[in-house]
Amino acid sequence: MILEICNHPYQYETEKLLRVFFPNEKLRIIQGSASNTGSEAVVTTAATDTEVLVRFADASGVLEARDARGDDGELSLETLLFRVLQSRTGYTPKWGLLTGVRPSKLFLKLERACGADGAKRYFTDTLFVSPEKTALAAEVGAREQAVLALSRPESCSLYVSIPFCPTRCSYCSFVSQAVSTPSARKLVPEYVRLLAQEIEETGKLVKALGLRLESIYFGGGTPTTLSAEQLEALLTAVRGAFNLSALREYTVEAGRPDTVTPEKLQALRAGGVTRVSINPQTFNDEVLRTIGRAHTAEMTVQAFEMARAAGFSDINMDLIAGLPGESVASFCNSIDRAVALAPENITVHTLSLKRASTMTANGTQFDKESAENADEMLHYAATALGNAGFNPYYMYRQSKTLGNLENTGYTKDGYECLYNIFMMEECHTVLGAGAGAVTKLKAPHGADISRIFNYKYPYEYITGFSQLLERKRAIPVFYETHGL
Ligand code: SF4
Repeated sequence: MILEICNHPYQYETEKLLRVFFPNEKLRIIQGSASNTGSEAVVTTAATDTEVLVRFADASGVLEARDARGDDGELSLETLLFRVLQSRTGYTPKWGLLTGVRPSKLFLKLERACGADGAKRYFTDTLFVSPEKTALAAEVGAREQAVLALSRPESCSLYVSIPFCPTRCSYCSFVSQAVSTPSARKLVPEYVRLLAQEIEETGKLVKALGLRLESIYFGGGTPTTLSAEQLEALLTAVRGAFNLSALREYTVEAGRPDTVTPEKLQALRAGGVTRVSINPQTFNDEVLRTIGRAHTAEMTVQAFEMARAAGFSDINMDLIAGLPGESVASFCNSIDRAVALAPENITVHTLSLKRASTMTANGTQFDKESAENADEMLHYAATALGNAGFNPYYMYRQSKTLGNLENTGYTKDGYECLYNIFMMEECHTVLGAGAGAVTKLKAPHGADISRIFNYKYPYEYITGFSQLLERKRAIPVFYETHGL
């Protein structure tokens, strides 16, 4: 498919919107008119000072529409493109024109400018967001605000990356390496040793700057791929390096049930961890096999019970809507089984097909039916979780997601994962340690953000460790410039 960009600067927006309607098409972007289109469908987007135009031409004919260009040229063109694509495909995306990552942030901004009703009207009437998703953005925005109020100028959070997993899930696009391969397994001890050192160095900077550590999150990867001793070494490094007196939350992802043991859970408890995540993804064993996870639904239940027995009173469970081979009924059963276990959080993701995943490499594509099924799954999740006393408190969207749908964290009252909101809403600095981690420095009294990237893969992290510590010298410089 060809996307022609004629006389306007909105390539990024028009391309993103076109991908919502045609997620599997290879797009050729052309500035101006294509000279040779062959049999490809051509979508022309054009603007003058007074008018916007969209033309969709393929083997079945030509559909063309024009409209007056309003004060906001981008919105005029996107609106027209949306209408043409909607009419051409018969498909109405639930998030309408919205392609951004954080709809709740936009909702809050609009609410401040024109009140809650005005924000809702703008979502439904101008951006064509469905009433259901508009209500979701409004509710998430309100809950986020309460958590954001906890953050102060001197606040910071810590993210620790453990980029190892037992095997690689077929939809995974993270840098995580499967320890089932000897080469990855060999890296683990040295990785843990250096990571403890990076944690110590980061703690020194935090103390010197007088920052206040609010939340810690160990993610990856699957941190519980490490042994109980390795986990203990890292948790000890955290305790030695940071003042934890103001810490509100300490999460470690124990995502893969096949990595969870009583010894590891005890090490986490002893190290001060308050929250764990045990992720079924689905309670359908056949689907688990298809996506390359080496555990069963029964193992998820056992891991959950082990975590409760170890004393964890704040547990999250992740599920994914739209996994290959998962019917709507089977997904609804997964929601019901997760609810029956009564965790404090249930996070419902929608399948996303990122370039680095095995599924994408194998040529998996989304179709209209799978997008509609995912929509039905999310609708069921929202209703069933609402009935079970869970409220949506955190939401984000990703590109290349089935039906252009969202990921939503649901929680029982008082169990919102603070880190998720702090990180997503960029309200304070998040210090990253480990391979693939990013330190995001946020100006204490302004909107400036500066990023420091760690090396992506464990091997690079180990070999480039001293340069990586050098990069962290930018942290005090940032605070000297922006003040506390
Ligand atoms: S558990 Fe998560 S990080 Fe690990 S392979 Fe699966 S999707 Fe990737």
